[in-house]
Amino acid sequence: MIDFLLLKRIISENNSFLLSTHVNPDADAIGSEIAFCQILKKLGKTVNIINHSKTPYYLEFLDPENIIQKFDVEKHAHLFDEVDVLVALDLNSSNRLVKIEKYFNQSIKLKICIDHHQHPEEFVNYFFLDSSYSATGHIIFRFIKETNIVDLTKNIAVPIYAAIMTDLGSFRFDRTTSKIHHIIAELLDAGADPVDIYDKIYDQSNFSKIKLLGETLSSIQLNHSKEIAYMVVTQEAVLRTGADESEVDGFVNYCLSIKEVKIGLLFFEMKDGVKISLRSKGTIPVNLLAEEFGGGGHTNAAGTRLFDIRISEILTKIINRAEYYLNQ
Ligand code: 5GP
Ligand code: MN
Repeated sequence: MIDFLLLKRIISENNSFLLSTHVNPDADAIGSEIAFCQILKKLGKTVNIINHSKTPYYLEFLDPENIIQKFDVEKHAHLFDEVDVLVALDLNSSNRLVKIEKYFNQSIKLKICIDHHQHPEEFVNYFFLDSSYSATGHIIFRFIKETNIVDLTKNIAVPIYAAIMTDLGSFRFDRTTSKIHHIIAELLDAGADPVDIYDKIYDQSNFSKIKLLGETLSSIQLNHSKEIAYMVVTQEAVLRTGADESEVDGFVNYCLSIKEVKIGLLFFEMKDGVKISLRSKGTIPVNLLAEEFGGGGHTNAAGTRLFDIRISEILTKIINRAEYYLNQ
């Protein structure tokens, strides 16, 4: 149970807030930040949103006032010791803040975390975390409904809709319930336009993304039992197609669209290491697999980043461990 009254009290007792989210932010990360920011602004609070990564172009519409800033040490480091409260959204371990981690952890200001991932690391004073929620945006929706802290206006409904819709895989993932659809009805009544939001996130891609998707799909291989599918994205392919890292978000899901495949893996070659995205069907806990390699996430969607290593050095190891979870 999340103590929403405590969250409300923290807001009322403080004036300035700094919000941040994870590297490679998705629509739940950005949507939660914007929705929470709008609540705070309606209450007259001062809000900064500072992220490690630039907002991907297909999510910029969620931030029409251009509030989110990409972290710059010179410009922003001092803020971590000046604001009253630091708020981490849609993450539960500080390493996902990357360049921001040091400033977040060093600060002696009040720190809170609003999130829906499993197995939190101790890095804040208060957690508002429950992994049964579909999205961090869903937690913010409940917070508004339970405390009546502000009205559910369109500028809050749109980012919350985007957060829930994307984290539920457009309402095809496990936690899609009738309760969720009732929430969605309220968000639509408050002004969220599902056609427009879907179009902006998924159907306004750069051509380069679709070219890279094509190459990535061509790279798919299956393990010997044909239950694990894996794909590779190289830096060379990214540079040649002109796509960027954020555009790879979602590619891994195609692995699970193959008959009999229960685990999907995407190996993304970064400049300084490998980012691995893991997906599964049913009860196969890919978060535990990711945790073995320093990452985490949810039962059916997890990830990790490994530094100073090549894909060829890690691929077989990960597939062997994936086979272990397959057979549990
Ligand atoms: P994605 O594969 O889309 O990047 O991430 C899938 C899920 O795994 C998300 O819920 C995300 O929060 C989590 N995740 C991705 N990368 C990491 C990581 O490096 N560490 C942890 N703890 N979780 C991650
Ligand atoms: Mn999320």
